[in-house]
Formats: sequence, C-alpha cells, structure tokens
Amino acid sequence: MAIIGGGTAGWMTATALAAHLSAENCTIRLVESEAIGTVGVGEATVPPIHRFHKGVGIAEEDFLRATKATIKLGIHFIDWLRPGADYVHPFGGFNIDGGDYAPRGFHHLLHADEAFDAYNVQIMAGRAGKFAPKAGGRDKALAYAYHFDAGLYAAFLRRIAEERGVSRVEGQVVDVERHPDTGFIAAVILADGSRIAADLFIDCSGFGGLLIERTLGAGYDDWSRWLPADRAVAVPSARHETPSLFTRSTARESGWQWRIPLQHRTGNGYVFSSAFLSEQAAADALLARLDAPALAEPRTLRFVTGRRRRSWIGNCVAIGLAGGFLEPLESTGIFLIQASIQHLLGLFPGRDCDPRLADRFNGEVAGVYEDCRDFIVAHYTCTEREDSEFWRYCKAMPLPDSLADRLDLFRTRGETLPPRGSFFGDLSWYAVLTGQGLTPGGNHPVASTLPDADRHKMLQRARAQVALQVAAMPDYAHFLAPFEATKDHSLAPA
Ligand code: FAD
Repeated sequence: MAIIGGGTAGWMTATALAAHLSAENCTIRLVESEAIGTVGVGEATVPPIHRFHKGVGIAEEDFLRATKATIKLGIHFIDWLRPGADYVHPFGGFNIDGGDYAPRGFHHLLHADEAFDAYNVQIMAGRAGKFAPKAGGRDKALAYAYHFDAGLYAAFLRRIAEERGVSRVEGQVVDVERHPDTGFIAAVILADGSRIAADLFIDCSGFGGLLIERTLGAGYDDWSRWLPADRAVAVPSARHETPSLFTRSTARESGWQWRIPLQHRTGNGYVFSSAFLSEQAAADALLARLDAPALAEPRTLRFVTGRRRRSWIGNCVAIGLAGGFLEPLESTGIFLIQASIQHLLGLFPGRDCDPRLADRFNGEVAGVYEDCRDFIVAHYTCTEREDSEFWRYCKAMPLPDSLADRLDLFRTRGETLPPRGSFFGDLSWYAVLTGQGLTPGGNHPVASTLPDADRHKMLQRARAQVALQVAAMPDYAHFLAPFEATKDHSLAPA
C-alpha cells in the first residue's frame, strides 16, 4: 500500500493501518515531499481523538509531552450572537438524563429562559480552571480533547508508524501510471525517476488531491455559498497566561478569530471571506488583536469549503484535505480524518477493490461531512449580527434543506434530532442554537407532565452534583505542571 502525503492525514492513516494490518500481508510506504511541506495548522481536536489514540496504543502522557498539548473542554464563542454576547459549546452531554420525562434529551426539562450551563461539568470545570481526567464524585470520565502543535503531532506519529514498519520515502510525485484495463492506479513516479507501485493508494496529498482529483477527476461539491470563508491568516504568539480550557472563537467583521493555547505558545488565526476583506486587512486585524507578541510572520492559507463527490475511486481513497475541507470553527478536520480511517478499516478492500465497498464508503463519509457542515453553518446563520456585509450575507443566505428543517423543528418544538451516530449530539445543538439566539419552541409533551416542584428538585440535585464534581477536581495548572517542566524556552520572544 502507498500513502501519498505526510501531513496529519498521512501519518494518522499510516499509524492506524500499521496498527491494524499485519505486516506480513501488507507493506506500507508513505511518500512525502519536504519541499512541498504541509499545511501545518490543525491544532484543536474533539474527544473522539481518545478512541484513535487508544486504537493505535498511544499513552496520553507521551502524547502530551511530545506535542506540547493542552486540554480542551469546549469552545468559547464570543460576539457571535451580537458584539458583547458569549456562550460556551462544551463537550459531553448533560450530567443528568431526563429519565422517563425527557426521553429525547434532558434539555426538554428546561424552560426556554433557563440556562443549561450548570448541568454540564465541562463548562463548569473550564470556567473554574479545574481539570482531572476523571470528573470526581461518580468517577465518571470527563469529556475532553486536546490542543496540540500540529508539526509535533505529525512527527510523533511518524516515529510510531516507522517503529511499526512503515517506510517513508522522501520525494515529489510527478507522474501517475494507470492500469490500461481497469483504470486503477498502478504506480506513482517520483522526481528522481523512482517508481512506487501498490495495490491500494491512499491520497493524503492535501488540498490539491493529487490522485483523487488531478488523476481520477472525482469532482468537488463547493459549499462556499453556505460557508463563504475561503482564507485564513495564521500566526503563533507567545504564551501569556495559564492556558484556557476552551478554544476561543471570536466573531470578527468578516469571519472569526481563533485562539488555541498550547504549553509553549498560542496559535492564532483569522478565518475570513476574501469577498468581504483583503488578505492584508485580515493580517493587520489579526496582529492588532493578539494577546501577546507574534512569534513569526503571519501566513495565509487559501481554501474552498466542500467535499470530493467521491473520495474512494477504484484503488484510491482520499483522506484529509485531499477528500474535502470544512473550515475549522468546530475543529472537525482531524475528526474527519479519523472517521475516514475508521470507515476504510471497516470496509478494507481486497486486491479487486470491490466498487460496492467504495460506494458504501463514499456514502458513509458524505454523511459525516454533511452533518458537520450543517452544524457549522448554523453558527453563521443564526445570529443577530447585521453590522457588516459579511454578516448580512450569512444571516440571509439560503440554507441546506437538512439544516433548514432542523432549525424549524427546534423553533417549533425544541427538538435537535441529530442523525444517529452523529458526533454533534443533543447538547451540542442545544448549546449552539440557544447561544446563537434561537429559542426552543416548546418541550417534549411528556416533559410537561412532570409536576413543577419535582422538576425543580430534579434540577437542583443535578446542579449540586455537577458542583460537587467540579469542587473535587484539582486546579488545571496542577495537572499541566509536570508536562510544562519540559518547556522549550527557545520559542519565547527576545
Ligand atoms: P497537508 O498537511 O497539506 O499534507 C499534504 C502532504 O502531501 C504533505 O506532506 C505534502 O508534502 C504531500 N504532498 C503533496 N503533494 C505531493 C507530491 N506531489 N509529492 C509528494 N508529496 C506531496 N483541523 C482540526 O481538526 N482542528 C483545527 O483546529 C484545524 N484548524 C485548521 C485551520 C486552518 C486554517 C486549516 C486550513 C485547516 C485546519 N484544520 C484543522 C484541518 C487540518 O489542518 C487538516 O485536516 C490536517 O492538517 C490534515 O492535512 P493533510 O494531511 O490532509 O494535508
């Protein structure tokens, strides 16, 4: 098998396949080009990353040290509803289920004017600056993810993959040979003339989609009418305080700005639409709003939000940016890589690469992308902001039917109804839709049969339980200290 590309997607795929396939039956080679490089961003994650690490045998301590990672309990959204307003989209669910009275989610027990924050341990711990991998009290695992240094993560995975037999080939693919009968890819040719043949090719070559698009012409569904941001300017800055337990996302005049705190520095970026703001103006705005001095020159990345129409064709499967791109508002890039790897492993083909497996893969991956897309679009369109051309466009833009239906159901009866198996569950939708100013238009009919005094008691108990769990946790700084002991001061500004 050959993997083309050594960014996060390439090395995650190599590590996972090396862990799950026997080396006697399958040799894995990864081709990457230092001259081309990687996008080098992608630093905030979501909790399913634990499943990936467990599956490939990564110990958390090693990972935290190697990638200078910090803990993430959710995203703090600032100025998204209107300047001055904020909310948190936390990980996890409500720390209580509604029992028989709220069969479709605890939020049905809340009245429209009641906040949900006190029922989610991640929000309360994040605000209090507390963290322990277990939530205390009931010893329930806390739902958390990481912020990490993307370059260090790729290097960390590379070391693991190479130890497990993956061989890395340095070189630039300049040509592709196809089988004359099947159209399958037979080999890639490198600039130095060497030929890499394989039965299966994984295209992790980034935005260009070297094999899936340039060779096989998969086609691309452009979703920029719903997600108009097409640029990001990114710059690291010096660390200036104990890292927050939340990624920070601040709405700006033509997009939004991220702040991702790591052990040794802070990642910053402005995601914006070039139809409404120039690259220079975006870079100036970003630099003017950093919390601490910049550590490098700002770098601009260009993208088109959307997805390959087919990400598996013949004997080629595209993973990562080669398969599609959703802007990073909800940190879904690495999650989408992981989901693609999981679906590929589940449908892993023989030499014939049965097209029915490819069809199934394409359908499954399309579902995951569309689900994440709708969730991200909801942040933009449900807003009171009308203070710039960009926000006026987002507020009025036509929506995917699937999202329009979802929003309508929420407005009429407070249902979120995420698709089965969706990563963004009831709490995610509830947090973001209410945070963006939507009022749930009612409760599940069964919930209203609970007498109000019982409802109050139940809510009070749930809040008290969350408060107890948070009180039992140590300060986050205490958790982080042993990892920070290996701080690299060379990155601090002079
Ligand atoms: P790349 O990093 O571009 O790697 C492509 C590889 O292919 C490189 O090794 C390159 O050398 C190689 N290559 C290309 N052409 C050739 C050739 N001809 N011959 C040989 N090798 C070749 N995701 C998240 O989960 N969280 C985030 O917070 C997040 N933030 C993001 C912010 C921005 C602005 C952007 C653009 C993306 C973000 N993402 C995020 C997405 C995340 O960065 C990507 O999903 C991730 O980095 C995977 O990239 P990749 O490996 O597919 O591509």
